Formats: sequence, structure tokens, C-alpha cells
Amino acid sequence: ARYVFLFGTHPTSSKDILGGKGAGLAQMTKIGLPVPHGFTITTEACGEQWPEGLEAEISQRLVELEAQTGKKFGDAANPLLVSVRSGAAVSMPGMMDTVLNLGLNDTTIEGLKQKTNNPRFAYDSYRRFICMFGNVVMNIQHDKFEHILADIKRKYTRHFDCDLTAEELQEVIREFKALYERETKAPFPMAVMDQLKHAVSAVFSSWNNPRAIYYRKINDIRGLKGTAVTVQEMVFGNTGPRSGTGVGFTRNPSTGEKMPYGEYLVNAQGEDVVAGIRTPNPIPQMERDLPEAFGQLMNVYRVLEEHYKEMQDFEFTIEDGKLYMLQTRTGKRTAHAAVRIAKEMVEEGLITKEEALMRIDPNSLTQLLFPQLVEADKKTKRLLCKGLPASPGAARGKLAFSAEEAIARTHAGEKIILAREETCPDDIEGMNVSQGIVTARGGMTSHAAVVARGMGKCCITGAHDLHIDVANKRITLPDGTHLGNTDIVTLDGGSGEVFLGEVAIQDARVEGAFATIMEWANEIKRLGVRANAETPRDARKAREFGCEGVGLARTEHMFFQGERIWPMREMIIAETVEAREAALAKLLPYQKEDFKAILDIMDGLPVNIRLLDPPLHEFLPTEEKDQIQMAEVMHITVEQVKQLVDNMHEANPMLGFRGCRLGVVYPEINRMQVKAIFEAACELKAEKPAANMHVEVMIPVLAHEVEMKLMRELCVEEAEKVMAAHNIKIPYTVGVMMELPRACLMADHIAKHAEFFSFGTNDLTQTTLGYSRDDAAKFIKKYLERNVYEKDPFQVLDQEGVGQLIRMSLQRGRATRPHLKCGICGEHGGEPSSVAFCHNVGLNYVSCSPFRVPVARLAAARAAI
Ligand code: PEP
Ligand code: MG
Repeated sequence: ARYVFLFGTHPTSSKDILGGKGAGLAQMTKIGLPVPHGFTITTEACGEQWPEGLEAEISQRLVELEAQTGKKFGDAANPLLVSVRSGAAVSMPGMMDTVLNLGLNDTTIEGLKQKTNNPRFAYDSYRRFICMFGNVVMNIQHDKFEHILADIKRKYTRHFDCDLTAEELQEVIREFKALYERETKAPFPMAVMDQLKHAVSAVFSSWNNPRAIYYRKINDIRGLKGTAVTVQEMVFGNTGPRSGTGVGFTRNPSTGEKMPYGEYLVNAQGEDVVAGIRTPNPIPQMERDLPEAFGQLMNVYRVLEEHYKEMQDFEFTIEDGKLYMLQTRTGKRTAHAAVRIAKEMVEEGLITKEEALMRIDPNSLTQLLFPQLVEADKKTKRLLCKGLPASPGAARGKLAFSAEEAIARTHAGEKIILAREETCPDDIEGMNVSQGIVTARGGMTSHAAVVARGMGKCCITGAHDLHIDVANKRITLPDGTHLGNTDIVTLDGGSGEVFLGEVAIQDARVEGAFATIMEWANEIKRLGVRANAETPRDARKAREFGCEGVGLARTEHMFFQGERIWPMREMIIAETVEAREAALAKLLPYQKEDFKAILDIMDGLPVNIRLLDPPLHEFLPTEEKDQIQMAEVMHITVEQVKQLVDNMHEANPMLGFRGCRLGVVYPEINRMQVKAIFEAACELKAEKPAANMHVEVMIPVLAHEVEMKLMRELCVEEAEKVMAAHNIKIPYTVGVMMELPRACLMADHIAKHAEFFSFGTNDLTQTTLGYSRDDAAKFIKKYLERNVYEKDPFQVLDQEGVGQLIRMSLQRGRATRPHLKCGICGEHGGEPSSVAFCHNVGLNYVSCSPFRVPVARLAAARAAI
């Protein structure tokens, strides 16, 4: 096997082999963009040990690189300097290691000085190299280098690094080398080949550093071989005022707007921009600062999009007026931007509608449904400062000043806003648990901004007015106001504003590009998308998000609201059928009222109402104070209440007296519910003759054909009675919720009496795996770590196991009843990979919570492409 390829010479330029960075450089070389020469060591060489022949191959490519550049590695007169960078198939910003200026030593520095005629620049590059090599390759704490630099700056009263003179930088270099020797017990290596070998090994092993592992975990990146390593001739953005470095996006990654977007710094090296140490300038200003390079850069924006037909991001360096490309990849973007870019690229004729849908991650759409701040309420609150709107959304919480603090306090139940001077890759877990992030420094492309956008987390960067004192956990504002870790702030990620206290938040809407994308999804998808909703509010939300009916209304949820619990409890303590019926009669109007509202909101769409499911003891109080209250309200003794609770206690309530078992034993409960459903429907029809309803009555937790037969008879009898009394006909069906393996096994028999199946995959997962859905959390995490299951089966459908029961039920059920309507209403109905499964096995619809309706619509369309 070959492991090392000069840019543009690999036969496939595949990302898997060359890594994203290597593949981008290879492509840009091929399409004629200005890329400094270099080579890539493939991901196949990544590992603890170097594969055989790698060292010889690197030496060979170096010779070729020397020929291309006309420079020599380690040469005193004309030295070749290189960067050594990581790059896996999937970009992991800032997670792995990079070494710049490699090849400098006490001899080659002389060549660099003479060639550039710029001793200050040469020493600046050397001190950066020692620091990066020491930190990245030898694990010397970065702070230790920073302290030395800060001390020397203070000694000569220099404000910025670039104010240091050549002599002062030589002092920095001496001190850095001394630090290096103290820490590693060996002098700084002068042999350039050793430098290179160590750096390559360090990049390889950075693949498994803790933050890279964590990043892959939270972004669900698996199955990669490792990182590639790119070795590239250095170009310098720090040679003076005609040089600089920056990052660009072909479209605005936050809003999606088509415009040359990005930031740069004059007289700086790459890391200065992303590290957020100096706040960079927006690209348009470059026309004035670096006019020659500006024109070249505008060409890059055009060429990149023409070639990739995608929004690209890129890094560039300008050396003495000439532009060089150092990287390009598919640009990370917010969900807002993703949707707008996809839509506009279709309109511009760059891609098809199908391609557009395939470019949007269905899960990311939930970000568009994130609440926004209420504008009017913003005006009533104190605006503390304004930074850059790095990642949209709204976030509220108490301030925390370090990642550790954010993690600890979040675990303790607080909502946290992480405030940092700037974030570094080690902060990633703290960022992930926080509601939002605000940093005092850094630009739109700083680490915090890039990572937060990837997480879909509200983030504001470059809020210069915040003086953050981490040691004392305090922020000071220019007017002297102090904020500490008990203060609440609200962030507006869309505007970059930070407010004191809690600003009101409102729900988002489906409009603009989002609405267009959703229409396209509807044109393409074949699977229906319904919502699980049992309140009028949820039903309205679901309809707004484009649901095609209600797939599950859990009627018991209605009994917990306000005063309704009392007749419910009265029903439970009743000792005779008459007493039970009397209590049920009080519940009926409540149920009817809710059903009527939902049927009205869902006009023209099917509404699936499930009869009572949970064991009755769930309606009884467990806490003493509530038991006392119950005794008072119901005129019984506390002892009686306790006795009742004891009597109804079940060892395994999930496998207990619940679902249709309640209906078989206490048919009057379900009779009342069916009566309420059809009275609601008949009354609505009488009030609104144009109302178009289809009611589905669903029987939960059912295992046996006879249960289905009994329940069906009950429903039909009650429904016909009500409709006859009103002299109104409402179309309806009676069906089953498939939640038990026995029901799946006997699907052909059950289908004799059931007009539809709806897979309740929460319970079906619980009963198939034998994992209690309420207790599984205790061991699931370990199970995932040990790869028993790849994903939590309660979130992502276990397609092999539970999925097999679903397939079998469909086959058997449809053998009895060919047009049996089948859906799913467990949590999996809103999870994209499970939605794709539902499409593939031939379900008619999925049903999910209202906020996941757009996710399911897009996932269903993607499954059909
Ligand atoms: C299910 O079991 O999948 C379901 C939707 O019902 P519930 O979550 O109410 O048990
Ligand atoms: Mg269930």
C-alpha cells in the first residue's frame, strides 16, 4: 500500500483516505486554485505504530516537495518550512493537533532571516514553532509559554505580540527553549527530520485525545479509520502589513445569505483567527486593507461554489499580497442557514429539490422551532452589551465561569449560561450542557462560534464590554455593574444582545425558506406524518407544523388537569358499578370538551383517540400531604387512603392492571370514554355541518384476539347508540395499539376485529427487550459503551428485533385485511432513522410529538428519495 501522496496525485481524492483537509487541498490543486505544495499521509497510516515503509515514503515525498518548491528541508541558506496538520474524513474543528513553521532550528532561522530580509518575522515564526511543538508534541502546558511571553511583553511594555522587536523575540526564544528543556529533560530538537517524525506521530495520536473522543461521541461520528496528516509548504501571513490570514464562507453560515462572508487579520498566522485572541475584521474591509489579495479572494468565492455546488468554508493566507488557499470543506452552518442555502441553490439551478432535501439534517430542524425572544419584552429589560450573533436562538440562565462549573451546576439542576473570555476545545462539554454561551473575545469564526453552531446552541462572541474575572466569578461592565454566578442573563443569538434577567420567549413559526422546504418534502414523501396530541394547544401547534392528523391522543393526560383528578379518584374508590358510573358521569363533560376542541382543530384529518391506558393507582397520591388532602376532599380517613394505595400497589405496574385489561374488567370506564368521543363528534357536526371528521378509537396494551373482539363490540355499541340518538353519522374505525409481542404474533387473528394497527413502540420495545422503560436508564449507558446496542433502543428503533415484530405483524395483519391501515405512535415516530424504517416496511404513517412533525416530514421525504 502507498500511504503518502502529493496534492492532486491520489487516484480518488476520497475524504476517507485523505481526510477532509487532504481531499480539499487535492481538489483545489486540481481546479487551479493557488495551493502551496504539499503531501498527505493517509488515514490508513494512522495508529500507535507507523506501518512499514511509511518513513521511507515520507522521505521520498519530501525530496519531491523540495523539487516543487525549490527549497530544501533543513537547509541553512534556503530552508523549506512546513505545516503539519490533522484532518479526518469528518471535520472536527480544533479537536486535533497542528504544528506550524516546522523545519526551523538555529541554522535554518538564518536562511529565513536572509531570504525574507526580515529578522523580526523570522524570530516570531521560530518562537511560535517552539511553543506549538512543545505544546502539541511534548504536551507542555500552553499557559507556561503564554506566561513567559506575557512577562517579556510587560518588561518592554509591549501591548500586542506583534509589537515585540527582533531582539525581544530572541529573548522569548531563549526562554522558550529553556522551558522546553526543563519540561522534557532534553534540548529542543535541531534535527528537522526528527521534528517531522514527532509531529506526525503527535497528530496521529491526537485522534484519540479525550476532547476528540468526546467530540466524536456527541456528534455521533463513528466508523472512521483515524486522521490523515497533511504536510504543506508554509506560507506566511505574518511577514508584514501586506500579509494576513483569514477564513471565509461562500455564504453567511448563520443566516444563509449569499454574500462573501468571513474574517481576516493583517500580519498574523492562521491560528490567531480561530483561537479568538485578536478580534478579526469582516472580509469587505479587506478591499481597503489588502487590495491586491481582495480581488483574488473574490474569485475564490466563485470558483469554489461552481465546483462544489455547496456552501464551502475555507482558510487562506496572504503572503506579501499573494493569496494562498490552505483548506476548504463543506461549511458548517446553522439550521436556518442550511434551509435557506438549500432553497436558494435550487432556485439558482445549482442543485435539485431532492439534493436540497438530502442536505438538511432532519434533526437540525428542531432548532428552527426554537423559541425566540419577544421583541416587546426586550425593550423592557436592561441591555447589558452587544456582541456578535455567532449562533442563533435564545437562551436564559445563571452565569457560570468555567466548563467544570457549568457541568456541575447543570447536573445539580440549574440552567446555565457559560461566560468565557474565549472558549478552547477543552470547554466543549461545558458548552454542550449549557443553555447558551457568551464570550468576551473572538469573532464569528472563533472556536466558540463554530462549535456552538455545530451544536445548535445559542452563542454570542466578541462581547467586548464584558470584563470577565474567572478567578472571582465576576463580570464587570464599563459602567461598573457587577454580575456574579447568581445573576440571570438572557442571550439573543440572532442579534448578539445580552440582557439582564429573564426576557420572555415565544414559539417559532414555519415560514419563508423553511416553509418552502417543507412543501418540497410533502411533494416527495409518501409516508403520512401525524402528531401525538391530547390538548387543544398541542393540536394547534401540530397543525401549524403540518401534521396530517392525530396519531395518538392519550386520554388519561386529560384527567390530571386541575379539578379533573377528583371525579377520577371518586371513580377509583367506588365500590359498586353505580357509584363508579356516577363518578364517570362527572368526567364525561371534561373529556367531551377536549375531544370536541381537538376534532374541530383537526377538521378534515383523522383523529386517533386511545382509551384509558395507565394503571389506576397512577391517579392516587403517593406523598403524605397529598394523601391528607385527598382524605379531606373525599370525606374519608387518611388510613383509608393509605389502605387504598396499598391495595392497588403492583410489583410490576408496567405489566400490570392497565390498558384494555381495565376495559375488560371495568367496561363502564371505556363506555364513558367512547360516549364522550361520539357526543363530541355529533355535537360538533350539529354546530358545524361542514365539519369533516374521521374518528379512530384505539385499544391499548392488547394481547389477545378475544380482548379485541370484546372491546370492539363495546365501542361499536356505544358509538352507534350515541349517533342514533343524535341522528348523525360520523365515520369511525376501531383498531389496536400493537404493544405486546403476543399481539404481533397473533396479528392475523387480531386483524379480524381491528381496522387499524398502531405500533406503540415505547411499550413494544419494553416488552420485547424485557427492559422497563422507567428503569432502563440505569444500565443503558453502559450497554451503549459496551456496544450491546449501538443506540438507545427507546430512542432509536431496534430494527433487527422490534422491527422484525413490526414486519411480521404487517404481513400477518394484511393477510387478513389487505388494506389494514398501519402506523407508529411511539417516540420513534419522530426519529429520522426510525422514520426511514417505517417508510421502508410500508407503514402508512408515523405519529410524533408536535415539535418533531417537521423533522418527520423531512425524514419521510429523504426516505423516499
Ligand atoms: C407506546 O407505548 O409506544 C405509546 C405510544 O404509548 P405510551 O407511551 O402512552 O405507553
Ligand atoms: Mg404504550
